[in-house]
Amino acid sequence: MSESKDFLRTIVEEDLQSGKYHEIITRFPPEPNGFPHIGHAKSICINFGIARDYKGHCNLRMDDTNPTTEDMKYVEALKDAVTWLGFEWANHVRFASDYFPKIYDYAVQLVKMGKAYVDSLNEEEIREYRGTIKEAGRRSKFAQRSIEENLDLLERMRKGEFKDGEHVLRAKIDMSAANMKMRDPLLYRIRHAHHFRTGDEWCIYPMYDFAHCLSDYIEGVTHSICTLEFENNREIYDWVLDELELKLPRPYQYEFARLGINYTVMSKRKLLELVNGSYVNGWDDPRLPTIAGYKRRGYTPESILNFCDQIGIAKANSMVDVAQLEFCIRDDLNQKVPRVMCVLDPLKVTIENYDGVEEIDASYYPHDVPKEGSRKLPFSREIYIERDDFMENPPAGYYRLTPEQSVRLKHTYILTCKEIIKDSHGNIVELKAEYHPNSKSGEDTSGIKTKSAIHWVSAKHAKKVEVRLYERLYSSDAPDGLEDLNPDSLHVITNAFVEPAVITEKPDVRFQFERQGYFYADPVDYTDAKPVFNKIVGLKDSWAKKVEATESAPKPETKKLPIVEGEVAPMSEAEQALFEKYTMVLGLNNEIANILARDTQLSAFYEEALSYIHSPISLANSVANEVARELKSASALNFGAKEIAELVTMIDEGTISTKIAKQVFEEMAKSGDHPKAIVEAKGLTQISDPAKLKPMIEEIIAKNSESVAKYKAGNTNLFGFFVGQVLKKSGGKANPTVVNELVAEKLKNG
Ligand code: ATP
Ligand code: MG
Repeated sequence: MSESKDFLRTIVEEDLQSGKYHEIITRFPPEPNGFPHIGHAKSICINFGIARDYKGHCNLRMDDTNPTTEDMKYVEALKDAVTWLGFEWANHVRFASDYFPKIYDYAVQLVKMGKAYVDSLNEEEIREYRGTIKEAGRRSKFAQRSIEENLDLLERMRKGEFKDGEHVLRAKIDMSAANMKMRDPLLYRIRHAHHFRTGDEWCIYPMYDFAHCLSDYIEGVTHSICTLEFENNREIYDWVLDELELKLPRPYQYEFARLGINYTVMSKRKLLELVNGSYVNGWDDPRLPTIAGYKRRGYTPESILNFCDQIGIAKANSMVDVAQLEFCIRDDLNQKVPRVMCVLDPLKVTIENYDGVEEIDASYYPHDVPKEGSRKLPFSREIYIERDDFMENPPAGYYRLTPEQSVRLKHTYILTCKEIIKDSHGNIVELKAEYHPNSKSGEDTSGIKTKSAIHWVSAKHAKKVEVRLYERLYSSDAPDGLEDLNPDSLHVITNAFVEPAVITEKPDVRFQFERQGYFYADPVDYTDAKPVFNKIVGLKDSWAKKVEATESAPKPETKKLPIVEGEVAPMSEAEQALFEKYTMVLGLNNEIANILARDTQLSAFYEEALSYIHSPISLANSVANEVARELKSASALNFGAKEIAELVTMIDEGTISTKIAKQVFEEMAKSGDHPKAIVEAKGLTQISDPAKLKPMIEEIIAKNSESVAKYKAGNTNLFGFFVGQVLKKSGGKANPTVVNELVAEKLKNG
């Protein structure tokens, strides 16, 4: 999975090589007191990912040692998150509470060794006696109790003879230890509370520092991976296992940096506050950073895994820009989902010179997505367009419909406005328009120039749907609490109109609504009678909306610059100039242009690469993605702009596919070899020759006769499946465009 090796994998490999362990066993140990969030996803990816990479296994263990806050519903949510991310835990789900009897036995053993004692100071005294960082602590007088007395008291604690807080069991270590955690840490406390699994069987509960290391040991865990805040706990971890002289192999603890993301909170306490206070609609509210929230919103597991992979594993805590996560989901959906049309804020247009209905055959996917499929798009006399795609008095630079300016209706004719109908308040309620019969997309002989294409739906055929738009839950990039909540984080549109195929054909559950963003059929509230869609994420140029805001209230002299979602600081003048050049002159999309313009190292690299070949878009994609990632994770680059230009040339010329290019890039980054040499040495040249591809296609078609029958019976969605199988068969080397054509031909002609 992860190509580059992180410090944890380095340790694991050394331990395998030296023979310290024969099998790698990790665990993911959440406390079942809240729903898992994106931070947990990172931990899941690390623990399960390492186990998988080294053919070991990973346990899912509930760290349920705190009876008052835990609940089975959280256990279910944790299981669901792990499964959804595509991982499997070894055997059954484990519970620290299953080990209570064993952990107790170990406590007795420590007492017998004179390494633990029952203390009867109260909580406040214990704190006071502990001392400070500058001052050593004092040991309680109860530490002198005899082993017999301690055994007796511990036994009676267990039997329930004492009240909460009357006694505790402590390790006898060192009250002047520099590490405060080593100053006779608590091992057990009395808690007369009902536990969600052990019921009333126990009234003493082991502390984290005692339960965790022993649970790891009992399960045979080798690498106990946790977040940095547990660094000081490592000494106790080792102390317990060493003092008990447990037989080898024993686990060791390693720490990595917690994930933090801006514009959100990740502490379970704060999330619980949002849920319990009804500031959001439950744990799966799409605005929350919980896995359940992302899942409901429409994020894919792939996008989250990709994100975790991109941010890597580090030793220093850092804050990741939420824009990076959004980039990952967009990147994933861009390659997968059908494009359809939905009007969110409808304005009726009557096309006075049109009668009847026609069905336009419109592809679901743009040319650069290697998927096939199309739907019939009804066109008729009355259509809806987006209210802000028309302006009566447009500012300069407005490219859509105006009384003087015609516009293309996506997939079909050019439209010209003839008359504006207003209500008594002066609001526009309808447009009368004309279409140009000879201007249809693909067969346009009208000679009319338009500056943009807008989306639309046929009023009579469109389906009314509810659309839920989400903004950031917090308006501050580092929110503190409820006061930072964004009051406008949810907009519900109840009368949006979507083209009928979305509801009747259901080509997918996720869609790109053209020009609006990516949307997901809500898995809970959606019904055919009342379809509901969640906005997953905006399009690359989501800043456009903000620019539109300036368009509708134009201030002639002040030129508003695009604001890119997720970016906090405005661009410097030099960065703005680059951004303009990249978008206007070189034709990059806003997101890529933004990434490059804001980073001097990346833009310099990009400019240099451009001096070798003029392929601005392909180069930009490579620099903003692969090169940027490599710069982030590696200390020095093993390649220069010239090598990237060479790689991109091979893609542009069709020598290799973009997929293979990724593989070549990894190899380049690792070995420093030239891309051409890598392609030659590994035989990665793209296969475009039909004579070589046809046998593979024959084989796939022959092997999947059932699917072929279904396809022929009308399930055209299967087309992508056949293409995918052929690509897979070729080891990713087949040219997708050629395969597409050949498969289509084969299925048609048999
Ligand atoms: P919180 O502070 O939100 O209560 P926690 O650390 O107490 O979180 P646990 O359920 O105990 O939550 O965590 C289970 C595992 O997930 C632990 O190993 C923990 O280190 C890891 N984890 C929790 N939050 C993050 C995060 N933000 N980034 C990476 N790993 C995390
Ligand atoms: Mg915890």
